[in-house]
Amino acid sequence: MPGWKISTEFSISAAHVINNYDGPCGRMHGHNYIIRIEAKSDRLHSSQYCPNPVMVADYRTLKWAKKDVTKGGLDHCILNEVMPPEYETTAEMIAQYIYDKTKAMLPDNISLTIAISESPNAWAYYGDDYC
Ligand SMILES: [Zn+2]
Repeated sequence: MPGWKISTEFSISAAHVINNYDGPCGRMHGHNYIIRIEAKSDRLHSSQYCPNPVMVADYRTLKWAKKDVTKGGLDHCILNEVMPPEYETTAEMIAQYIYDKTKAMLPDNISLTIAISESPNAWAYYGDDYC
């Protein structure tokens, strides 16, 4: 079935520590994370900013995490203090957290993939098409 896919990429700076990790990741440190979000749908939607059904999803909605932590995003935060404790701050679970929060903002028929990189050579993915 034909449909649309959009993607957007942004970065945030954040600190974290991985609990019970025996090594440098177990000490507080920071990353300039790159986050890529893909959204797919076979129909177009309105958004909170536009009443016309002309987009898969509004980039402004998809990019909520780019906002400063004081404005509801994840930029310049300590991830361990912002993410609920059921999420560890591995790239895998940051992707899952962003997926869960973003999914709750969107209509049901949009499938999402979140990719996140904390270093130039490694990416973690979480989304609707991985299992
Ligand atoms: Zn790290």
